[in-house]
Amino acid sequence: MRTTPRDGTQEREGTNRRLKAPIRLRPLMADGSGKRALITGITGQDGSFLAEQLLTKGYEVYGMIRRLSTPNTRNIGHLLDRIHLVDGDLLDQASLQTAVQSVEPDEVYNLAAQSFVGVSFTQPVVTAEVTAVGALRLLEAVRTGAEDARFFQASSSEMFGKVQESPQNEETPFYPRSPYGVAKVYAYWACVNYRESYGMFASNGILFNHESERRGHEFVTRKVTDGVARIKLGLAKKLALGTLETRRDWGYAPEYTDLMWRILNASQPGDYVGATGETHSVEEFVQLAFDRVGITDWKPYVEIDRRFARPADVDHLCGNAGRAREELGWTASTRLPDLVRKMVDRDLELLGPAGRSGSSS
Ligand code: NDP
Repeated sequence: MRTTPRDGTQEREGTNRRLKAPIRLRPLMADGSGKRALITGITGQDGSFLAEQLLTKGYEVYGMIRRLSTPNTRNIGHLLDRIHLVDGDLLDQASLQTAVQSVEPDEVYNLAAQSFVGVSFTQPVVTAEVTAVGALRLLEAVRTGAEDARFFQASSSEMFGKVQESPQNEETPFYPRSPYGVAKVYAYWACVNYRESYGMFASNGILFNHESERRGHEFVTRKVTDGVARIKLGLAKKLALGTLETRRDWGYAPEYTDLMWRILNASQPGDYVGATGETHSVEEFVQLAFDRVGITDWKPYVEIDRRFARPADVDHLCGNAGRAREELGWTASTRLPDLVRKMVDRDLELLGPAGRSGSSS
């Protein structure tokens, strides 16, 4: 296990670097919680927002990171002096057991995944290993190492795929249309199965698309806001997209990480849809982004490149988050124009003179 240096949990014995479990300090927090959370996928979009929110609530936050040749802590750089990092990889059972046993979490949030639908077609086996079996590995590590911990699984609206009804809710049958969607269905049922078989407090958030200024650049929303900012700043001439017709239910990521916390702090485990209830096309998203930078005649800047099209696609998603509203008091309040504005403004800032000189991070 790797920990941040300041938690003082590493020790050396001879040439072997032995790590002992962190001392289980339970500081008395302002709200009296002092709970300990383990987040997988902390370097991703959602992990970073969730870590911020849990710190604010008085949690001790542990983030699991995998070994990379070039560390990827861009989203959590501002948190590194307040969180603990532990080594682990969803592909490696032993590392998960070690992480869970040493952290002794009260809550485990499984946000790690090969999360990009497009790559799931070119790397289906890795996607299954990480996104499907990885969730099972972590459930097993929690069952055997921290059975009282509450477990959250980040499930996806991509499980609905070729939708069987609209809008989609917790009862809508799944019909995934990508290896990613198939993997998420497996992980969803593994979570339900551990709840029913072992009585674990294990819950799914069936999350519709949620975006932010921290979204990865391969995802269409960030590709659009980054591309539009580049065009506005004279750094690019074109924006290439696979389609303008796909429709999604897009919300703002920090509201969805708040839902994750609400799901794990409910009185009973269960499965909840997180969605805005509105659906918009990629074309509407693109138009809003160009509007934001004052370009009204945007079509000449956009080209359709079928190389970005998928072998099977999901045309239309729209969620009904009624259960989350009624039982957890949760609603998604940020609407698409505000989301696009936040993302475009941030990309302009990052790509503008201040961002390029490093003074805006
Ligand atoms: P990201 O792609 O931004 O983050 C994925 C995280 O998973 C990264 O921290 C990544 O680490 C980590 N990861 C990947 N492979 C492994 C592995 N083998 N072992 C350990 N960690 C690994 O995803 P988001 O933050 O957007 O989403 C969070 C979760 O919610 C994901 O499971 C996603 O599928 C799900 N979800 C997201 C939605 C959305 O719209 N954002 C919608 C529905 C579900 P690294 O930095 O090392 O690559």
